[in-house]
Amino acid sequence: MEEPDFRLGIDLGGTKIEVIAQDRAGRELLRRRVATPQGDYAATIATAVRLVTEAERTLGGRGSVGCGTPGTVSRATGRLRGSNSVCLNGRPLRDDLAAALGREVRIANDANCFALSEATDGAGAGAPVVFGVILGTGVGAGIVVAGAVLEGRNGIAGEWGHNPLPWPRDDERPGPPCYCGRAGCNETWLSGPGLERDHRQASGDALAVPAVVAGAAAGDAACGATLGRYEDRLARALAHVINLLDPDVIVLGGGMSNIDRLYERVPAQWGQWVFSDRVDTRLVRHRHGDSSGVRGAAWLWGRAG
Ligand SMILES: [Zn+2]
Repeated sequence: MEEPDFRLGIDLGGTKIEVIAQDRAGRELLRRRVATPQGDYAATIATAVRLVTEAERTLGGRGSVGCGTPGTVSRATGRLRGSNSVCLNGRPLRDDLAAALGREVRIANDANCFALSEATDGAGAGAPVVFGVILGTGVGAGIVVAGAVLEGRNGIAGEWGHNPLPWPRDDERPGPPCYCGRAGCNETWLSGPGLERDHRQASGDALAVPAVVAGAAAGDAACGATLGRYEDRLARALAHVINLLDPDVIVLGGGMSNIDRLYERVPAQWGQWVFSDRVDTRLVRHRHGDSSGVRGAAWLWGRAG
């Protein structure tokens, strides 16, 4: 492919499709967002193609195209599985986009895009190994080594949300059922709905996450205890990651990353689970927030693109 004029990133999600254009230095040139056609694969492709076409007409050039989307992208086939936009599952999204756009398209899991964005010029910039975690309605993660996403032989590197919560306590076994078919996955404890379920079961109160956080800050004992259990579980789950990968930086994204006290209390606890006499790993909040998915998609073509 001849040298592109700019990088385009598409974030293809269940509720919205967003596109950005970046110049070679990573400066944002353009951003558009539209609703995702529901349950219609052909219309979803057509919408993404239209966003690219309009962006290129506006900017007067031709871009490289990277795409981030939920679910796991088969490295071999580009077909998706495990996406919450179920009409995308089993579809050759990469090849269909490439055919419609007349160029090669790179595609990655949205958590990988998050990790790549934060590792490139975000909260993990300059770190050799970055573990990026999205703690939202689900839990996903991506690994970036020396500025590149580590995909893995099966395209699932970083899918730690469906590892079991480590070192479970007696009342955490077998753990809540997970949509993946197992029980006690990290996601069932560390997602927003997971915290809300835990609080409901412990206190009888059906509160949303912001209300639990506000309650804890105001001195409510039950809310404080819920956040304490959450921090203990996140510390154990991340200690597993540190023992295996030993990243320089762990970046949190997703709605749960807005809980300020995590950044102090989780590192204060993970040392008891990490196989080392000291832990220098940094736990930090994302820099680019909701934009990380679409920015990381653009960065799939690298700095020089
Ligand atoms: Zn699971």
